[in-house]
Amino acid sequence: MPAFDDRQPETRPPASSVVERQGVKGVRFDHDTLAQRVRFASASAAEILADEIKELGAARVMVIAAEAERELAHRIAAQLPVAHWHHEVAMHVPVEVAERAREQAAAHRADALVCIGGGSTTGLAKAVALTTGLPIVAVPTTYAGSEATNVWGLTEHARKTTGTDPRVLPRTIVYDATLMLTLPVDLSVASGLNALAHCVDSMWAPRADPIDRALAGEGIRALRIGLPLVAAEPDGLDGREHALYGAYLSAVAFASAGSGLHHKICHVLGGMFDLPHAQTHAVVLPHVLAFNAPAAPDAERRIAAAFDAESATGGLARLRTRLDAPRSLRDYGMPESGIGPAAEAILAAVPPGNPTPVTADNITGLLHAAWEGAEPR
Ligand code: NAD
Repeated sequence: MPAFDDRQPETRPPASSVVERQGVKGVRFDHDTLAQRVRFASASAAEILADEIKELGAARVMVIAAEAERELAHRIAAQLPVAHWHHEVAMHVPVEVAERAREQAAAHRADALVCIGGGSTTGLAKAVALTTGLPIVAVPTTYAGSEATNVWGLTEHARKTTGTDPRVLPRTIVYDATLMLTLPVDLSVASGLNALAHCVDSMWAPRADPIDRALAGEGIRALRIGLPLVAAEPDGLDGREHALYGAYLSAVAFASAGSGLHHKICHVLGGMFDLPHAQTHAVVLPHVLAFNAPAAPDAERRIAAAFDAESATGGLARLRTRLDAPRSLRDYGMPESGIGPAAEAILAAVPPGNPTPVTADNITGLLHAAWEGAEPR
């Protein structure tokens, strides 16, 4: 199985730089666009899913959806030729859960996977696709964005390993914003800020290029408009559609740019203290933005513009206040004694080219502020 631990340094050089060749100064970058179809239409998931499965020529579909999304899955996949309904899903894809899903795929001779749910559900479908090569049609119900990346993740002995593989990229994403209407406001806010974190980190991640930054800027703009609408009117479609569109853009930018400092921090914290994924991102984001923005003027300008604010940090702070966003890691169970070990692990994983040099002192300060819910410095 192709595998790498994402705590190791990125192997590719920064993708975007101003270079001088034959006396000519110019922008130079390489950008890979991942090939997948995106179908975005509210109240149309069942019909579009049926279309996509027909187009794939699949006759034995394995539908993956967590228990909580069982009813929803049976409703929107009712017209499909389903060989197996799989409802065992767990956060961060434990290997034993992945193994059981792979066995079921083989036992039922599945020829396609449909996943309906959040990032955990998409992650399980990816784990099955990784070893079987089965095509995935993804129907996301959170703003996590896993459906638009070729990144898989598996957890064994409390250690999450991630890697990239073209086989895990869903062939088609079916976005139906009506499926988000049941996502409670607090989870919508945390998940939306997880998407926002993809955008912000894509400004300075190791492979960030001008295309990623453009997508990320538009993603921030859409999320900045959508999330307050979701919070104010959870049953309204407009906010849900804006947020879902922003979440997709955020994931595309992230898939290309790679993990920046923010994602490395959250990866370490999530793994060490079993913290909830979206909420951890929501808490840590303003601290990383305040940490990097002063040393990244182009990112600062783009993020501020996307927030329609005077400064990037001010724009994020204003949005977080409107959303009553999660504030502290201790609220989610991280012990204060964990700050030291986490700082050490993060130091070993700092992505190359992070705008602000990371030291034991400043990363400890950042973690402490995020732990206690202090204002970002
Ligand atoms: P999740 O999938 O665990 O879902 C969180 C909760 O929300 C669950 O209880 C779920 O049942 C519920 N839920 C989902 N949709 C709902 C809806 N519409 N209405 C009501 N409840 C709903 O959490 P998540 O934040 O979506 O995903 C987190 C996972 O995704 C993590 O493991 C993370 O590492 C992974 N992820 C992977 C990538 C990638 O590129 N590989 C990107 C982002 C996240």
